[in-house]
Amino acid sequence: MSTDQANSSPPPRVIFAFLQLYLPLAFLVLLVASLVYLTQKNTRLEAIKGQQTNIVRLEREVLETDLLTHVSDAVFLARLTSLAMDRPDGHVPLKEVLQEAFLYFSQSQKVYDQVRFLDTSGREVVRINLDKGKARVVGQKELQPKGPRYYVNAGLKMSPGQVYISPFDLNIEHGRLEMPHKPTIRFVSPVEDPGDGLLGVVVLNFLGDRILDRLRRASRAGQNELFLVNQGGWWLVGPNPEHEWGHSISGRTAFSMASAYQQAWRDIAPEENGQVVTPHGLFTYQSVALMDKMQAAGASQPPTRMDDHWWIISRVPQEVLALPWLPAMFWICAGVMLLMAGVVWLWAMARVRRALAESESLGNQRRLEFITNTSQDAITLVDSQDQVQFWNLAAERLFGYRREEALGQSLHQLLAPSEQHATIARGLEVFGHTGQGAIFEGRREVLARRKDGSHFPAEVSASAFSLDDQWYAAGSVRDITEHKQNEEALKRLANTDGLTGVLNRRRFMELSRQEVARSHRYGGPLSLIMLDVDHFKAVNDSYGHEVGDEVLVSLSQVCRQVLRQVDLFGRVGGEEFMALLPETGLEGAAMVAERLREALDTHAVSASKPEVRVTISLGVAQLSPETRLSDLMRLADDAMYRAKQNGRNRVEISDQK
Ligand code: GH3
Ligand code: MG
Ligand code: MG
Repeated sequence: MSTDQANSSPPPRVIFAFLQLYLPLAFLVLLVASLVYLTQKNTRLEAIKGQQTNIVRLEREVLETDLLTHVSDAVFLARLTSLAMDRPDGHVPLKEVLQEAFLYFSQSQKVYDQVRFLDTSGREVVRINLDKGKARVVGQKELQPKGPRYYVNAGLKMSPGQVYISPFDLNIEHGRLEMPHKPTIRFVSPVEDPGDGLLGVVVLNFLGDRILDRLRRASRAGQNELFLVNQGGWWLVGPNPEHEWGHSISGRTAFSMASAYQQAWRDIAPEENGQVVTPHGLFTYQSVALMDKMQAAGASQPPTRMDDHWWIISRVPQEVLALPWLPAMFWICAGVMLLMAGVVWLWAMARVRRALAESESLGNQRRLEFITNTSQDAITLVDSQDQVQFWNLAAERLFGYRREEALGQSLHQLLAPSEQHATIARGLEVFGHTGQGAIFEGRREVLARRKDGSHFPAEVSASAFSLDDQWYAAGSVRDITEHKQNEEALKRLANTDGLTGVLNRRRFMELSRQEVARSHRYGGPLSLIMLDVDHFKAVNDSYGHEVGDEVLVSLSQVCRQVLRQVDLFGRVGGEEFMALLPETGLEGAAMVAERLREALDTHAVSASKPEVRVTISLGVAQLSPETRLSDLMRLADDAMYRAKQNGRNRVEISDQK
């Protein structure tokens, strides 16, 4: 991958790697967040539900207790009226007794707008009005013939001791809605005629403002709104005072609980108590159930009748239900996701880059292996610690170590003869720091060791390079055993005589010059023996040239056996030989010459023709500090010539002095 590619548009592989990790992680974060949210939300909702149920129950109980008080009041006044009508003496005018009692009652209670006694036709007989907190007897002229009002009729239908409770209403006076509005509940109880039947009804116009105001105050105090709703779904206490009493005030008929919160109302209307969550929030409702209360109190029959039915409803808006830390959680989640995205993106880029680099390096490695495996030479690579990093097929063949065995090992521990280890360790020390070393100066011949412990000559060429602040050395190693052998053979050919295997003339002269020089320098004695086969021509003539050759070979072997290892022996002519004896004086050399002569004299010198025998004539001379090699040879040759002249098969010593 080129850097341009990496920096511009991200390759699909990065996106894929990113999504592969990011999606599960993001899912996990969202899952955890959702679980936390849901459980917390539920916990909170349950807590609020419990709290609201308590609030509504409390309000309902207060209201019911309140209403029961008024029920008792109505029953009490009805009974009082009945008793008053029962007075036989008639001393005190009937109405005045009642008026006094009612006035006193109204003044002491201060919650009844009107306290009245109506006869069975609905005519007001006694009426006490409460004007600005002061009870007042309404005069005879002001009394109204109420006629067949529904509440009078309803009251007359009740049995003595029972109470009819009217719907919550706005008071209508003289056929018109009384202003300011007077929310009113009428408690009506029949008055028993001591003789028989009913005398009429006692009607208490209870001022409902007290109830409504208390609910309003409670509503304002909490996070919830408290409503009082009647059977028709109309607000008695609602969210907006302007929307209340829709059933009584023309112009407000559009406003009701039923229309404002339709969904909630569908749940509430058929139920007594309950809770419902709608998009408008949590609604908690309980109906005001007075009859149940009375029954629970032990009354034998229902003492009251309510045409209407009220619910106390609390509404907690969704905003309050929502978790207060939800926005914070949202932002934290968003932050975490974003941070995670960043980290995962970097990771994905690094991963793809690494994968590409790895595959590229693998490709390079493969190519390198392929190329180097075609080489006949062992190719290796070591780092500055001498650890093998690369090992081709030829290296496996040459050294006997498989790739897996060699990689990571110290090259020189593996391959160098142990006596060289110390030297190599010093060289490696320098190489590690400088990348320099004698090995890099050209082809070098070294002795290498195989896995089986055998050694072989090898030619090494190496080069160094640095990578990531480390020095590496690459080298190729070639087995030069054969080459060496050929070289040896050539050298041997060049230095020895092809027939007899002893030194040829050129090599004999060369080595002799060295010996002469040594003798001149160190003063050691040096002697030369010159020998020639006697009548050799005759051997050739008699037995053939091949037998002649055989004789020469055999003669050489005999002479080599007689001579010491340090002595030089060479064939210097057809059937002429020379022996140079270091550290040997004239006398010693003469003895050696004699021994040579004797050996030949007593040996058959041809395997194929055992009867062939030859003799040799020898001349001996010693090097003096003044003479050179050529002089020495001439002296020996002269002596040898004399041996021939003196009858052959003899030794003559140079009379050089
Ligand atoms: P003399 O005792 O005087 O030395 O007699 P001679 O016959 O050895 O005399 P000469 O030195 O003249 O002869 C040498 C002969 O050696 C001549 C040649 O045919 C023979 N000769 C030289 N080189 C070889 C060789 O390589 N093989 C064989 N078979 N004969 C050789
Ligand atoms: Mg000769
Ligand atoms: Mg001869």
